[in-house]
Amino acid sequence: MKKLDKLYEGKAKVIYATIDPNLIIQDFKNDATAFNAQKKGQIEDKGKVNAQISAHLFERLKEASVPNHFVELLSDTSMLTKKVEIILIEVVVRNIAAGSLSKRLGYDEGVVLKKPLVEYYYKDDELGDPLINEDHVEELSICDKETLDKIKAMALKVNEILKPYFASVGMKLVDFKLEFGKTNDGELLLADEISPDTCRLWDSETNEKLDKDRFRRDLGKVEESYKEVLKRVEGKGYRVPSKE
Ligand code: UDP
Repeated sequence: MKKLDKLYEGKAKVIYATIDPNLIIQDFKNDATAFNAQKKGQIEDKGKVNAQISAHLFERLKEASVPNHFVELLSDTSMLTKKVEIILIEVVVRNIAAGSLSKRLGYDEGVVLKKPLVEYYYKDDELGDPLINEDHVEELSICDKETLDKIKAMALKVNEILKPYFASVGMKLVDFKLEFGKTNDGELLLADEISPDTCRLWDSETNEKLDKDRFRRDLGKVEESYKEVLKRVEGKGYRVPSKE
């Protein structure tokens, strides 16, 4: 499948048309941004690493019957996906307090939440992606109630699958952001990416951060941490510690 016209360039990916109107190619970039693009940089090999990690996770979710846009990897950084119209909310699921939730609720980072918490943010760069609730989704006509209910159920199911999966490869899934879209036929699919750019992942034993917070907070070892996540997701270089 060949890349045709460039359809869109985002902060982390470039999207191309293909000869099939229902399929697009997503090219993962090394560019990194944070704080609504006020902080910019490059993370060596991030495109490759995030494309591979996302592909692994989308495959796993497909096996667990979570419909998603992933079709196949075309190269190290290129992914063939179904074309969807993205619904303008970012859905965040949290298991452990961190980042903006810690600030909002006054919780120390690392506090385990009573149950997984789902939040919606309005995808609007000019407004700085504000936190919104179900009524705002309705007021803004982002999607209908039925679709939002399905999105919430899918987001929680993704958590139910990925949380134990990451635990099995030595990581705590602290929180993550998902995006959803609808195909031409109106099918709701999980879309975008799932990677250390969009998840908080902490080492199970040491709580070492292995995600984009290393870039956001200038913690160093950014490339190494992204590569470590890939190694573990690919099942290389990590053994579940034995109980003895
Ligand atoms: N997140 C994301 N894109 C965004 C905002 C957040 O992928 O534009 C992810 C982020 O990596 C984290 C989760 O969503 O895994 C929750 O982020 P939070 O609201 O704590 O905001 P942050 O501290 O990242 O500003």
